Amino acid sequence: METVKDILQKMGAPTEEDLALVERAYTFAAEAHKDHKRFSGEPYLVHLVATAKNLAELGMGAKTVAAGLLHDSIEDVGVAPETIEREFGKEIRFLVEGVTKLGRLKYRGAERHRESLRKLLVATGKDARVLIIKLMDRMHNMQTLQFVPPEKRVRIALETLEIYAAIAHRLGMGVVRRELEDLAFEHAFPEEFAATKKLLAGRAKETLERLEKMSRTLRREVAKEGMTGFHSDYRVKGLYSLWRKLKRKEGDLDKIYDIAALRIIVTDIPDCYRVLGIVNNLWQPLPNKIKDYIAFPKPNGYQSLHTTVFSGDGGIVEIQIRTADMHREAEYGITAHVLYKEFPSAKATEGHGRGTSFDWIKSLIPSFRRSGAVQKTAEDPKGEVKRARYGAQGGPEWLSDLTEESEDPDFEMTLKTDIFTARVFVFTPTGDVVDLPVSATPVDFAYAIHSDIGDHVFGAKVNGKLVALDSLLHNGDIVEIQTKKSALPKQKWLDFAKTTLARRHIRFAIEKETAAKSPQQRKK
Ligand code: MN
Repeated sequence: METVKDILQKMGAPTEEDLALVERAYTFAAEAHKDHKRFSGEPYLVHLVATAKNLAELGMGAKTVAAGLLHDSIEDVGVAPETIEREFGKEIRFLVEGVTKLGRLKYRGAERHRESLRKLLVATGKDARVLIIKLMDRMHNMQTLQFVPPEKRVRIALETLEIYAAIAHRLGMGVVRRELEDLAFEHAFPEEFAATKKLLAGRAKETLERLEKMSRTLRREVAKEGMTGFHSDYRVKGLYSLWRKLKRKEGDLDKIYDIAALRIIVTDIPDCYRVLGIVNNLWQPLPNKIKDYIAFPKPNGYQSLHTTVFSGDGGIVEIQIRTADMHREAEYGITAHVLYKEFPSAKATEGHGRGTSFDWIKSLIPSFRRSGAVQKTAEDPKGEVKRARYGAQGGPEWLSDLTEESEDPDFEMTLKTDIFTARVFVFTPTGDVVDLPVSATPVDFAYAIHSDIGDHVFGAKVNGKLVALDSLLHNGDIVEIQTKKSALPKQKWLDFAKTTLARRHIRFAIEKETAAKSPQQRKK
């Protein structure tokens, strides 16, 4: 059985204090769950260690890892939240209680499902670490689902597909999504799973040999160009996503070009485009299949260049080209950003005023409106816009869609993915989340932080690089605003500022300045 050592080993650069915290949480969990067993008959601690180890592997800090060890202690063995706070502090109590609340929700058809979705969203609004713990908890539960009584399996598997995988996708955690989907697929749709697996296996050998050959050719050509830091691997499409795509393509495997894709990881963006040139020169690309997700990232922040080419031996292959940073982002998404919350180089989150707040999510939830607490968002500080738009009773369209029973699982999935796509989440240098509408700029960000900052923007850095003020922000960007007392809003900002809040302040500042100038000009 794995023990605390296995967890500690996975933690990146922990301090003495971190190690002590995780060890204490382990001892506490071992004691609290000592009479508690899994369906498999194993000690319950196995599950807690697996969850914590997964979190450590994702690079999460000691508090999140400790919360992973404690995540079932309130619900399953009746530990009081106060006890957790006394032993481990407020923040860990908050994380454990968050996970507990999510765990109380069970998917039992549409009604419960909707409720779960809302609760999940609210929890995300508070702190994405709660969701990350829940995802790792779910991962281990899916890995051991065969021990759960059969009548429960399908419900858990569907819940995983419809809620947790969708959330992982939205958080940009590609690896987690793929694994959750494939684990759940087998239990939710056993026959389809078996058929898809067989179909893929029939293609695997031929496909992988082809990728191997292309990879060698490409490696040689890239070396000729003197590019270093190039490496490649393959990704085979997840079974679940392959099945979904097959349904859209009338079951014709020959119409799916990305069953396996060749992935090229290079050092910087110019190299991405150079490699794209080499690829499209070596092999004939298919028309309309060259996608520049670097200049135009997907809504969840995914960046890469894609091209689909004829391999010359009768095959068609998708090739994805990106930098190592983009690759990490595509695989682990938001985890890279919440790390700021626990690592000392970027402290200041604990007890910090703004907090991590996806306020817009709450504004979409009717129960919040019923309670009279109309939510503020960066764009809409008084909640007026949403109230006006949706009225006292009605909700946004997706909500009314959710209140009708939907028979089509594809439709449901799309819906759940789409509710997230109208916003981008960006980060302050200390890791706080600011939510903005799609195509927001650093100026919108600055006003979302504070009008004083917005009114004196002098420059902006995105992910450490200076950018123009009209640059579009993307999910996961870390935005830093430089201010100068003498800097003032400019008329041209109105051409690109997106939020109502920013536009109002800019207009006001310009009017004020014009009014102040005109008497002097008259004197001259
Ligand atoms: Mn659990």
